Amino acid sequence: MPMLDASTDCSAAALSWLATLIAFPTISGSSSNLDLLRLAEQALRARGFAVRYTYSPDGKRANLYASHGGATGGILLSGHTDVVPVAGQDWSRPSFTLTEDGERLYGRGACDMKGFLACVLAVLQRIDLAALRQPVHVAFTYDEEIGCVGVRGLIKDLAEAGIRPAACIVGEPTRMAVIRAHKGRQAWRCCVQGRAAHSSLSGTGVNAAETACELVADIARQARQLQRDEVDENFLVPYSTMAVCRVHGGTATNVIPEAAEFDFDLRFLPSTDPERALAPVHERAAALQAGMRDREPEARITLERRTAVPALTARPDEDRLVQALFAAGAAGGSHVAFTTEGGLYQAAGIPTVICGPGDIAQAHTADEFVLRSQLAACESVLERVLLA
Ligand SMILES: [Zn+2]
Repeated sequence: MPMLDASTDCSAAALSWLATLIAFPTISGSSSNLDLLRLAEQALRARGFAVRYTYSPDGKRANLYASHGGATGGILLSGHTDVVPVAGQDWSRPSFTLTEDGERLYGRGACDMKGFLACVLAVLQRIDLAALRQPVHVAFTYDEEIGCVGVRGLIKDLAEAGIRPAACIVGEPTRMAVIRAHKGRQAWRCCVQGRAAHSSLSGTGVNAAETACELVADIARQARQLQRDEVDENFLVPYSTMAVCRVHGGTATNVIPEAAEFDFDLRFLPSTDPERALAPVHERAAALQAGMRDREPEARITLERRTAVPALTARPDEDRLVQALFAAGAAGGSHVAFTTEGGLYQAAGIPTVICGPGDIAQAHTADEFVLRSQLAACESVLERVLLA
């Protein structure tokens, strides 16, 4: 296996692209990413790529998809253009300007994941595309950080257009290790509607906050059950987890609360069926609602799924890509704790692994940075995989 030299520096082109990309404050869910995409489009069109867009419902953000050498087969290089906010974080450097400090390159998104996008653009600008034996595709998506929102429209568009890459690399920060599995995630909101009353007449009201708390306790119990049900030691937290992360209810100390709500989060092992993991919660909610309705016909408990990202599982159809990545110098790895767009690509029938520059420990933090040697390693691996 060719070894990567940690002292190798990234290319001037990758550095320049990183500076350009960081300067667009493409915060998920609010800022437009269209100007960033137009620049990438220009660079890719100049190299003969065919480009298509899929837009957010308000038209302010988009996915860019570009293909060279045909629509079918070949490798898809995919990354998200959005970044998490910087508000409330204590940055000692400018967040939307690239700052170079020795080996470190600072700026929001340097690690997660504009470093990968910069490497993709730099490599595709310099390699001899005519020498490629297979197509190459690029996907730059939006709103990944708020539930892999953008990529869903892109995947639908590809299916409708009959575009089918043979394999996909999602370049989330893994320090260039090949990751084949991660947990899935679902985020839920529960709203409880009861009936208000003066607290001196507590028996006449239907207490939404107390009912919500009963369900919260049941969720905690089910979480402990999940911990016993299935174990996968490849994960740092080796079981599926469920946690109530936000609770709100009531208005005053002397009013029986009419409404209460809470949010909870399920992170499930690839082997766990999320519907089965959640079934006891739904059953308990239905039973609690029936009890409330004995006293107030309008009372209700609603459970709304707000985010669902499938898990990523190692599958045999990825073996060729994995071997190619190892031959190109990517490092060994297996499982990570964070979710990515990879599970959605895989669910759409595109064999997918995660492999990208930077360390997830630096993602989303103040003074986010990526190492120059990580970009160098990424450029080298991409170049060798594409030209293999
Ligand atoms: Zn990311």
